[in-house]
Amino acid sequence: NREWHLVTRPVGWPKPEDFALVEAEVPTPRDGQVLVRNLYVSVDPYMRGRMSAAKSYAAPYELGKVMQGGAVGEVVASNAEGFAVGDHVLHFFGWREYAALDAGNAVKVDPDAAPLSTYLGVLGMTGLTAYAGLLRTASFEEGDSVFVSGAAGAVGSQVGQIAKLKGASRVIGSAGSDEKVKLLLDEYGFDAAFNYKNGPVSEQLRAAAPDGVDVYFDNVGGDHLEAAIGSLNLNGRIAICGAISVYNNTEPAPGPKNLARLIQTRGRIEGFLVGDHYDLQPQFVEEVGPWVRSGELKYRETVVEGIENNLEAFLGVLRGDNTGKMIVKL
Ligand code: NDP
Repeated sequence: NREWHLVTRPVGWPKPEDFALVEAEVPTPRDGQVLVRNLYVSVDPYMRGRMSAAKSYAAPYELGKVMQGGAVGEVVASNAEGFAVGDHVLHFFGWREYAALDAGNAVKVDPDAAPLSTYLGVLGMTGLTAYAGLLRTASFEEGDSVFVSGAAGAVGSQVGQIAKLKGASRVIGSAGSDEKVKLLLDEYGFDAAFNYKNGPVSEQLRAAAPDGVDVYFDNVGGDHLEAAIGSLNLNGRIAICGAISVYNNTEPAPGPKNLARLIQTRGRIEGFLVGDHYDLQPQFVEEVGPWVRSGELKYRETVVEGIENNLEAFLGVLRGDNTGKMIVKL
């Protein structure tokens, strides 16, 4: 049983020396617990925050202890009522091969209803993030024009497609390579897309959205946010989902210089946390599940194999190696 420990808190970009892959005993499940062999492990940008000691919505990872994160696995031993060997469960004890956990922390998932990895992505946490952020926080309405950054990633690709399926007038996405931009246009049906590395975001956004944007779904922060405020229409809404462009900064990033534009536009800018929106989960699965099954909503996964590559996969998310959800397959 191998598991990943945080050894030192990274400063700036995390380095391999900040982590250790440790050999540990396979845990014994206590009364009321199940022993799970992990099959798919999630790596997500928010984990960067948990590697620092700063107080946030999720507790910092403890030094010298195994890290946590979403995972789907198979029950290999059960001391809990309602769980049998062979059941598949979604839980929060990733970054390791085996986990013993209280049955109350495990949610059964059906491998016949959808591929197991999708419970971490398109039908899981990142999918609900897209759904809740767009529909609830940004109050999306039919006819809105929507701009989303990180648009080839897990959350962003779903935001753009849900907006299209729900009648957006125009969907614009930004991503970090020409290949990703092509995917947005050719496969996901975005109306316009640009590579933010090819020129100033504000200029590229103005060209892609000459009539402005009603909704901006922000995965990136920094100059993307400033550009979106600059292109915001009257009564525009900005949902702050993430700010991945600043997660490895050692100094606070300067904020947008044009916030006063929110006065002219009566614009609204609001952060949200997916954890507060799990009441939408049934509605999300009911509405988005059929789109995924019919292929109307497309998704990609970047799959890295082996627990030994869990860290590289995480670093890859910060670098943009992934298209769609980054998954580690054990
Ligand atoms: P993604 O699948 O989108 O992966 C992250 C992507 O970020 C990379 O693929 C990369 O793509 C892009 N990126 C990296 N650095 C930069 C940069 N400097 N500028 C612009 N883009 C960059 O991850 P998720 O879909 O899981 O998460 C997307 C965002 O949503 C993150 O900010 C995350 O923290 C946030 N989030 C927030 C939640 C909430 O409850 N509020 C819940 C889940 C996620 P590229 O090649 O395009 O640069």
